[in-house]
Amino acid sequence: MSTSPYFTSSGRQTRSAAREAISALSTKQKQPRRHIKIEYEKRQQEAVASEDNKIGDVAAKKRKKEIPATKAHTSGWEPANWREQLANIREMRKSRDAPVDSQGCEKTADVNQSPETVRYQVLISLMLSSQTKDQVTFAAMEKLKAYGLTIENILKTTTGKIGELIYPVGFWKKKADYIKDATKICAEKYNGDIPPTVEELVKLPGVGPKMAHITMNVAWGQVTGIGVDTHVHRISNRLGWVKKPTKVPEDTRLAVESWLPREEWDELNLLLVGFGQQTCLPVGPQCETCLNCKICPEGRRRTRGKPEKKTNKKSPKRRKR
Ligand code: SF4
Repeated sequence: MSTSPYFTSSGRQTRSAAREAISALSTKQKQPRRHIKIEYEKRQQEAVASEDNKIGDVAAKKRKKEIPATKAHTSGWEPANWREQLANIREMRKSRDAPVDSQGCEKTADVNQSPETVRYQVLISLMLSSQTKDQVTFAAMEKLKAYGLTIENILKTTTGKIGELIYPVGFWKKKADYIKDATKICAEKYNGDIPPTVEELVKLPGVGPKMAHITMNVAWGQVTGIGVDTHVHRISNRLGWVKKPTKVPEDTRLAVESWLPREEWDELNLLLVGFGQQTCLPVGPQCETCLNCKICPEGRRRTRGKPEKKTNKKSPKRRKR
């Protein structure tokens, strides 16, 4: 196991340690961690809603999409019990022994490399992670690093070889193409570094908003938005953290950012991903043992043992009763 700062602490400190390690290495572009206002340019983005969506389908159709702006504290609404729910999740996650804690993107970069290479490796790790378990992503990153995961080396590598190295991550063929194309852009447009803003990161092939926000956090040390993947999306809906149910992670991000204080954004992805891997599972969440059971709408519904039916007072059936 590496002795890098990535492997020395847990929890909130883990992501902070990762950021600090990268930041400390940087001699050219060291930037203090700060919250920044994101003004997304309105534009048509090509087929990169890859994470948590059907990456292959999206890419194949070249669906164009507009990235909406982050709007912090704009709703005037907040969910009941969210502070207690979040505290309970922190309590349930205090051992930090979920797969994401040891094999997430903060753990995969080689901090003995240059700051530019560390940032590039964080980005590649996130590109590999969509539709892929942390264990599989971690193994692919180990193979890539052993081969030489630098922009210079990947530029000289065929997509076939990249595919061979990253197999069996989800959509490995398409991701090999994305990695090769994104690497060329990093080399040609960013002087061998990764793009430094969300707006520019999402222009890279295969990079969507979730990856961009987590990259900004882990690689650049800036909290620009909540990284909402399938776990954060699912759990936010189950806990009632969205005013109305949301269908896609990007809508969930905007909904949660509209009420959750910014100081909580940094940790939320890591916290909920691990919680989703261990307790609030996609299928068969462990509501009976979850500390939130009594204050979670989904938990209450499941532990009552029957579906919560919507009350429609105008329903003819209900009026007959
Ligand atoms: S009670 Fe169930 S659905 Fe709610 S947060 Fe806990 S595990 Fe998830």
